[in-house]
Amino acid sequence: MTGTVWFVGAGPGDPDLITVKGRTLIERAGAILFAGSLVSEAATRWAPPGCVIADSKDMTLEQMAAWLIAHAARHETVIRLQTGDPALYGTLIEVVQPLDAAGVPIAVVPGVSSAMASAAAAVESFTLPEVTQSVIFTRVEGRTPMPEGESLPELARHRCTLCIFLSITLLHKVEAGLREAGWLDDAPMLVVHKASWPGEEIIVRGTLSTIKQQCREAGIVSQAMVIASPTLGARGWAELTKSKLYDAGFTHRFRRASKTPEGT
Ligand code: SAH
Repeated sequence: MTGTVWFVGAGPGDPDLITVKGRTLIERAGAILFAGSLVSEAATRWAPPGCVIADSKDMTLEQMAAWLIAHAARHETVIRLQTGDPALYGTLIEVVQPLDAAGVPIAVVPGVSSAMASAAAAVESFTLPEVTQSVIFTRVEGRTPMPEGESLPELARHRCTLCIFLSITLLHKVEAGLREAGWLDDAPMLVVHKASWPGEEIIVRGTLSTIKQQCREAGIVSQAMVIASPTLGARGWAELTKSKLYDAGFTHRFRRASKTPEGT
């Protein structure tokens, strides 16, 4: 028999933030290979008795693939549980390729990314009408080099929302990159550590010139999302350009305009 290997996004940390589909699969899983401490809780909370559960933290990619292939020969449902969404900074393709080569069917279940959980924790919107309408998910260069055209100064020139993963220990590079792109000292910055983790979440609000020191003082050295955006803090703004969607003068598919739009 050949079972299916499901790559399931476990969400950002709160076990309740897994999707219903992900949880249902875990409840009938024969074997689960999870990625690190972040997602172990979801695995153990929902897994059935007798389910084989292993941590992949000391495995190479080849060993992970071999583990999944071996268990797919014995169980109908095998799960590779990953943090956040499997499409962001995981090893999805590297592990899918050997499974494809072995003829093991696979499928992916999306998850709540830590970028979205960070926005939720801080009650922020990544997009605001006439402020920015774009979001970039990126990181700064660590051991993984950045492809051409994707350095932080190049991306930050767009002045849109930047969700910077895997970079909390590289805040000096984040700061230098934003400055090089012309962001000012008082540009708002947000760092969320362990977004959505019950009782462990830390939210740090600062500016380009203060955020590194604030994070040092808060002792944040891992599992943190760094966000730079012209939308940060908008909850407290006195003047907010309302989205055209809710403007009484705007007609769209579901609603007729109730008054003549001004200045359009
Ligand atoms: N696939 C994951 C990202 C994995 S890369 C996702 O979609 O979220 C790991 C990086 O994600 C960390 O360095 C950190 O920047 C971020 N991260 C993961 N979980 C987090 C959390 N609960 N809070 C804040 N950042 C988190």
